[in-house]
Amino acid sequence: MKIPLHIKILLGLALGIAAGLALNAWGGSIRSAAGDGTFAAGAITFVVNLNQVLGDLFKRSLQFIAVPIILFAMILAIGSLGDLRKLGRIGGKTVGIFACTAFLSVGVGLALVNLIQPGGPRFIGPEVREQLLASTQSESAGRVVTTSKSVNSWDLVREIVPTNPFDALARGDMLQVVVFALLLGIALSLLPRERSAPVFAVVEGLNDAFILIVRGIMHVAPFGVFCLIIPIVATLGFSVLASLGAYCVTVLIGLAIIQLVIYPTVVRIFSRVTVPEFFRGISQAQMVAFSSSSSAATLPVTIANVRDRLNVPPDITSFVCAMGAKINMDGTALMQAVATVFLAQFYAIELSGAQQASIVFTAVFSAIGSPGIPSGGMVMLVIVLRSVGVPAEGIAMILAVDRILDMCRTVVNVTGDAAVAVAVAGTEGRR
Ligand code: ASP
Repeated sequence: MKIPLHIKILLGLALGIAAGLALNAWGGSIRSAAGDGTFAAGAITFVVNLNQVLGDLFKRSLQFIAVPIILFAMILAIGSLGDLRKLGRIGGKTVGIFACTAFLSVGVGLALVNLIQPGGPRFIGPEVREQLLASTQSESAGRVVTTSKSVNSWDLVREIVPTNPFDALARGDMLQVVVFALLLGIALSLLPRERSAPVFAVVEGLNDAFILIVRGIMHVAPFGVFCLIIPIVATLGFSVLASLGAYCVTVLIGLAIIQLVIYPTVVRIFSRVTVPEFFRGISQAQMVAFSSSSSAATLPVTIANVRDRLNVPPDITSFVCAMGAKINMDGTALMQAVATVFLAQFYAIELSGAQQASIVFTAVFSAIGSPGIPSGGMVMLVIVLRSVGVPAEGIAMILAVDRILDMCRTVVNVTGDAAVAVAVAGTEGRR
C-alpha cells in the first residue's frame, strides 16, 4: 500500500517530536543526576548534532533552489502576461484585482501575527527564549549587523534596484532578484514573438527542471522534517509546540478571513453571483485543491467549475484561471508574511515599520513566484526571511507543521482564481 506523502510527513513530524521530547526528558534527568560529562549526555549531544546536520542538509537543499526558481518562475509568469496586450482590458482588470486581494491578504496576515504574537512571550517562556538565543546567537548577531544596514526606509527603497543583477543573484538578495526577473520578463514580452519565444522556451525548460528538483526534495521531506524537529524539541522541550500551534491558528484565522470575507466581497461587488452560489460552484475544485495541495494540478477542475458551474465565458475562464494558478496565491502570501514575523518574534528580532512594509512587497512577489505545487510556498519563504534577516533555521519549525496549512492555503489560492474570474466576467457584463 502506498502511503501518501502528506501522511508520511505527518508521521515524520510525530516521530520527530516524540524522539525530541524523549531526548529532552532524558537529558534533563541526566543533568540533574550526574552532570553533563557522562557517556549518556555525550550520546544525546551526538544524536542531536547528527540530526542537526541531516536537517541542515535538507534545509540547504531548499535554499539551493530558491534563487533560480524565483528567477525562472517570475520571468515565465510575467511572460504569460504577454497576452495582456491582446486581452487588453480584461488583462488589466485581472491583474488589478489579483494585486488588490494579494496586498489585502498580506495586510490581514501582518495584522493578525502582530496581534496574536505566536512567537512572543505569551507562548514561549523566558528560559526557552534564552536557550534559543544562546544557540543561535552568533548567527543572529551576524544578521543583525547585515540588516541594521538597511533599517532606514530610504535605503530599503534605494536598494530595490540592483546595481548589478548578477551580483544580486550571487548574494541571493531576493527583492533585487524579483526586480531583475520582473524587468527581464517585461522586456522579453515586449520583444517580437519570434525573438522572445526561444528564450521563454529555455526558461520554461529550466523552470520545469527546478520544479522536478523541488518534487525530489519533497520526497525526502518526511525524513527532513524528522531530523529538523528533533534538535528543536530536544533542546527547547514542549513549550516550542505551544508556540507552533499558535502560529498555525494565526495562519488559519487569516485564511478564513480571506476565504469568508475578502473573496465573497469581491464576488458581490463585481458580479451578480450570490455567495452561496459561488461556493457551491467552486466546491469540487476546492476539494481537489485540499487533497492535492497543488493549484497547478487543480487547474483543469478549476476551469471546469468556473466555466460550467459559474457560467463564466470560456475565454475569460481560461485566461484568468491559468494566470491565477501561476501568479495569484493569496493564501501563500499570507502564510509567508505570518511565518516571517512569527520567526522574527521567536528569535527576538525587532522588525522596524519599514521592514514590515518590505515584507508586504516581498511576500506578494514571492507568492507570485511560488510554483503551484505542494510546499511551493515553503521554498519561497526563504526569500522573505532573508529579505529581513530572519534566520533560515526557523524554516525547520514552520516546515514541520506546514503540510496541513498547505492544504488549506491551496484551497484559498484556487478559490481566489475563481472569485477573480467571476468578478472580471461580472464587470464585462458577460455571464
Ligand atoms: N501548494 C500551494 C499551491 O499550489 C502553494 C504553496 O505551497 O503555498 O497553491
